[in-house]
Amino acid sequence: MDAIVMYPSPAIGHLISMVELAKLILNHRPSLSIHIIVFDPPYDAGSTAPYINKVYATIPSIIFHHLPTITLLPSIISSCQIPETLTFEVLLLNNPNLHQALVSISNNYTIFAFIADFFCYAAQSVTAKFNFPTYEFFTSGAGCLSLMLCFPTIHKNTTKSFKDMDNLLHIPGVPPMPAKDMPQPFLERDDNVYQYFLDATIQLPRSAGIIVNTFESLEPRAVKAMTDGLGAPDGPLPPLPPLYCIGPLIASDNRGGSSHGGGGGDSDSKPEYLAWLDTQPIQSVVFLCFGSLGRFSAEQLKEIAVGLERSGQRFLWVVKNPPQLDTDLDSIFPEGFLDRTRERGFVLKSWAPQVEILNHDSVGGFVTHCGWNSVLEAVCAGVPMLAWPLYAEQRCNRILLVQELKIALPMVESENGFVSSTEVDKRVREFMNSEEGDSVRRQTKAMKNEAKAALNKGGFSCVALFKLFESWKLK
Ligand code: UDP
Repeated sequence: MDAIVMYPSPAIGHLISMVELAKLILNHRPSLSIHIIVFDPPYDAGSTAPYINKVYATIPSIIFHHLPTITLLPSIISSCQIPETLTFEVLLLNNPNLHQALVSISNNYTIFAFIADFFCYAAQSVTAKFNFPTYEFFTSGAGCLSLMLCFPTIHKNTTKSFKDMDNLLHIPGVPPMPAKDMPQPFLERDDNVYQYFLDATIQLPRSAGIIVNTFESLEPRAVKAMTDGLGAPDGPLPPLPPLYCIGPLIASDNRGGSSHGGGGGDSDSKPEYLAWLDTQPIQSVVFLCFGSLGRFSAEQLKEIAVGLERSGQRFLWVVKNPPQLDTDLDSIFPEGFLDRTRERGFVLKSWAPQVEILNHDSVGGFVTHCGWNSVLEAVCAGVPMLAWPLYAEQRCNRILLVQELKIALPMVESENGFVSSTEVDKRVREFMNSEEGDSVRRQTKAMKNEAKAALNKGGFSCVALFKLFESWKLK
């Protein structure tokens, strides 16, 4: 039987995108069998088991293979500042297990292609021993991919860390990018994670093709820059394998996506927040949600609450406990906050079904950490964004969304990353009631239509997907 093997990074956002890619392939090639090789996340980001079990139970053509759990030395865990480091460590140690899994799958299936998440670049040294091509799956956008591809050249031409640079970086197809807005793990040159990402970005163009979760009409300049092979001021980009922009791939159902709680509620009765949303005027509610890892300090949460209250806007705010603080969230908010805002605000203290909420008629704006899945989900729902990046490549995404794609307004933090209540108040009001807000709203709605068109027969993404199938020489 013919098979495709996938190797996602274990973070829920990456896993969901890979599963959506699997579903897309199966829609067009239902006779294939898709094998997804998974391993436990090496840091606590909530278990992905409920999500995997649900996919497993509903789509028989997707088969999961669990690699044995790798336990890292406590010294490695305690010395690590950035969670991605641990993922890379585990991935390297997993190579013998991956090899074993591939041998066992090949005993019963003909593998046509192996698709590795960008983080799983180390797998290429294993798959090189087999007789099938390895593709990389890039779960962020084309602008960010262009930046990644330039990273090795920029690295070669400087001895400084990005965090110590004040200049703008000129990346093909991307607005000038302040060096300090480079992805968080790239900022400190001496950190192990910097080297891991450098290796990952060197490996990217060595794959048989790069599959990108974007669509050409969303990021035309970045896509063109890469396909034309334009050089960056720091030197030419490396020759690239084919790019396949097959997105937007978004979760069709992310109720209870992780063990943080089943916020959406799987029961038939309507959850309270949905009943509340039903009573709000059309496009009046600001939805605030900050991804699977977005956590704020108690001080920051209080400041957001003050800002939201002052703004006078309606809001649905997904709040997760601050790190290491297992307290009642109500005690963090200003006294009487929940009572005073009861009529026009709803605080949801659990995992929220983001896609469903974004598509509710009452939602008119999305305050987001700029994780790429959240961005695509907002675009597909036609909801404009207020960009408040927190980690990973989200500061780059803010520049792209605000300056290039013009589908977001920025939230502006102070030097230490803190956002004052005055800023929250001002930006939220501007977002919901100004010409700038209306302009990003119009542009996002236009992109929603472009997203639909891209996936339809003959659309950019549909054509790219069929080119990918051709490259696999599937019967
Ligand atoms: N998500 C959700 N409810 C939450 C938090 C996150 O449904 O309370 C989903 C969100 O819809 C998206 C994913 O989790 O599909 C987060 O991915 P993203 O790339 O936006 O951010 P990450 O969590 O990877 O930083």
